[in-house]
Amino acid sequence: MSFILPERFSEMHEVGMRRYNATHEDQVFDKTVELEGQRKDGSIFPVELSLGTWQVGGESYFCGILRDITFRKRLEHDLEQSNKDLEQKVVERTLELETKKKEMEQFLYIASHDLQEPLRSVSGFAGLLKEQYQDHLDEDGEQYHRFIEEATSRMSNLIKSLLDYSRLGSNKVPVVVDCNKLMQDVQNDLFAVIGEKKAVLTVGDLPQLEGYEVELRLLFQNLVGNAIKFTQPGIPPEVNIAASQDKGFWKFTVRDNGIGINPRHHQKIFQIFQRLHATDSYEGTGIGLAHCKKIVELHGGKIWVESTPGEGSTFHFTIARRSK
Ligand code: ADP
Repeated sequence: MSFILPERFSEMHEVGMRRYNATHEDQVFDKTVELEGQRKDGSIFPVELSLGTWQVGGESYFCGILRDITFRKRLEHDLEQSNKDLEQKVVERTLELETKKKEMEQFLYIASHDLQEPLRSVSGFAGLLKEQYQDHLDEDGEQYHRFIEEATSRMSNLIKSLLDYSRLGSNKVPVVVDCNKLMQDVQNDLFAVIGEKKAVLTVGDLPQLEGYEVELRLLFQNLVGNAIKFTQPGIPPEVNIAASQDKGFWKFTVRDNGIGINPRHHQKIFQIFQRLHATDSYEGTGIGLAHCKKIVELHGGKIWVESTPGEGSTFHFTIARRSK
């Protein structure tokens, strides 16, 4: 053993052997330990030592197996280095994406804010035109004027929803939100359409959680609003809202018996202004679910849909539980 052991370990080895011979207390036997070995030329390399001992007639016998683990150690080192590099890259990439996202939101805010001004002028002058030149407009003129008004109103809604999107969660402080109360408010807000569509809502026991109140309300409002909106003709909407606890998360579901969504579109519907229907069949701007996605992500969660066309949809989302 001593011929392979580097000089600096020999004293430790001697002490260990003396202690074993005196006490028979074994600390290294029947185990595999990693040590350093020394080559003839003095160079050091990693070794793995497995030691066994047994007694025959009061005599101690030892058996040691030494393995040169240079190659394994190099692989381990390379693997560790690659993991570190990868972690570093992930951190850098995440930061880069965060910065890009912030820039994009800033751009969205500025662009939509600045677009409002000329739109107000168009809409104002269209109003003046109608007011002051009504008698001079023939049928076509009236129709063109109506198109301008409808288009400016649509554009104003789009711009407003983009502005809302870019503002979601900015400079807000999380508070404790009672989701039961939140759902009650949403039901009050949707009172008219619930009555009109004869919708039946069942709401399970919902949690209190820490989050952004205005945004969470918008999230429930969008999902429940859609569940009531995208219904099959002649079938009154049945909507169920429930929540359960998962590891580190609250998990919510909003289930409906509406028209359902083709699996092909399950990702696409969460993008800004992506709609599957013309406004004359189901009105909307196509930003509601993009809002929902951003709100859920602000709360450290995910949102997705499961649906069978013609049978209904279930929207699932999670909200991270903050530890106190
Ligand atoms: P909007 O409701 O203004 O169209 P959303 O972003 O809320 O915009 O929804 C995007 C699209 O996803 C909708 O146009 C619709 O095609 C589909 N969708 C959303 N919710 C439902 C639902 N509960 N059932 C069926 N389709 C839905």
